[in-house]
Amino acid sequence: MSTSNWLLLGIVLFVLVDFSSGMLIDYLNERRKEQPLSPEGAQIFNPAEYAKSMAYGAAKYRFEMLTNLISTVVILCAIILGWFAWLDAQLRDRLSNNLLITVVFIGILIVISTITNIPAGYYSTFVIEEKFGFNKSTKKLFFQDAAKQLLISLAVGLPLIYAVAWIYQELQNQFWFVAWILFAAFSLFMFIFGTRIFLPMFNKLKPLPEGELRTAVEDYCQTQGFPLSKLYEMDASKRSTKLNAFFSGMGKVKIIGLYDTLIEKLTVEETVAVLAHEVGHYKRKHVYTMFAFSNVQTLVILSLMGWLLGNPNLSKALGSDTPSFHLSMLAFFLLFTPVSTVLGLINNSFSRHNEYQADQYSIDTYPNARVHLHSALKKLSRESLSNLNPHPVYVAVHYSHPPILDRLANLK
Ligand SMILES: [Zn+2]
Repeated sequence: MSTSNWLLLGIVLFVLVDFSSGMLIDYLNERRKEQPLSPEGAQIFNPAEYAKSMAYGAAKYRFEMLTNLISTVVILCAIILGWFAWLDAQLRDRLSNNLLITVVFIGILIVISTITNIPAGYYSTFVIEEKFGFNKSTKKLFFQDAAKQLLISLAVGLPLIYAVAWIYQELQNQFWFVAWILFAAFSLFMFIFGTRIFLPMFNKLKPLPEGELRTAVEDYCQTQGFPLSKLYEMDASKRSTKLNAFFSGMGKVKIIGLYDTLIEKLTVEETVAVLAHEVGHYKRKHVYTMFAFSNVQTLVILSLMGWLLGNPNLSKALGSDTPSFHLSMLAFFLLFTPVSTVLGLINNSFSRHNEYQADQYSIDTYPNARVHLHSALKKLSRESLSNLNPHPVYVAVHYSHPPILDRLANLK
């Protein structure tokens, strides 16, 4: 068997292993969910709410099985039947500039994947979320969001792809290093300004209005030297009833956002305890460690790409005899699936560790935060019908935050 056929076999195998292990983990998680309500769980849900949380989990599980199955079948068809190579050949007939072919090829994949994801997003929002009382979005807002997301991915993704392909074409040997500098600069920009630039395209951010909450927040922020001007209330309630808060940015360009749903449903003390958790992410420099780790990952990926991308068998594995940057890159990422799974596990474990640290920061810096954060997290879980008994493997793969009962136990 030729090298390209071995590569094709490897790609198909990885897609199948990724799919079946994902299905298995989902199944284990679904099975483990069905447990009698524990005394700890009873602090969050009454029996009716608990039953509802399980029904919500089951609805999401069934839908995820279906969408995973469909997307895997489509990907396998595209790989085995040579749809990617066909698209490449069509573009090659019409365009002569290699860089332009790469940009249009990736652009078409972005458009197709966004459009084909719309039905799943629609069902998830207007059927599942609606049924469980979470959805506040309108159809108009939903389609506006989808259109904006598509335009942003094209506007950000295509120039980046052009630059990377150009670097590869001009400097094959130093590709990995120069492309890494480019990605590091880009991710630095996104870590600093990403939320600042893109969030206002979807949500309105406004300063906290005068009142009891603002006074309490002012007092706390003063003890922390955190400028109140960086704190915003966000109109999350136009899409969902779920509550949350976030920290984003670096150095002087930082934002803490509190969802209006959070402010509405938590007491003043609970809200400040959550805010203190977000300040903890800032003070413990979690953004910097995440940034450093993401750059190490990019370096690993790009050095492997620099080493392997010149091999014409990568494009050939996807059915094209004319080697191209985009087909080789696509084949590379399909073969890279096991490594990205491992990187995802490390990322999530890192992130869960940071959540405990931020909780600890809240306890250390806000009086009685142990009690207030405890009750805030219980409300958060109740209002989003969280799964009380996720499977540990599912947690390792999918959870960026610790499971709620572990987090509450840690606060005790
Ligand atoms: Zn957090």
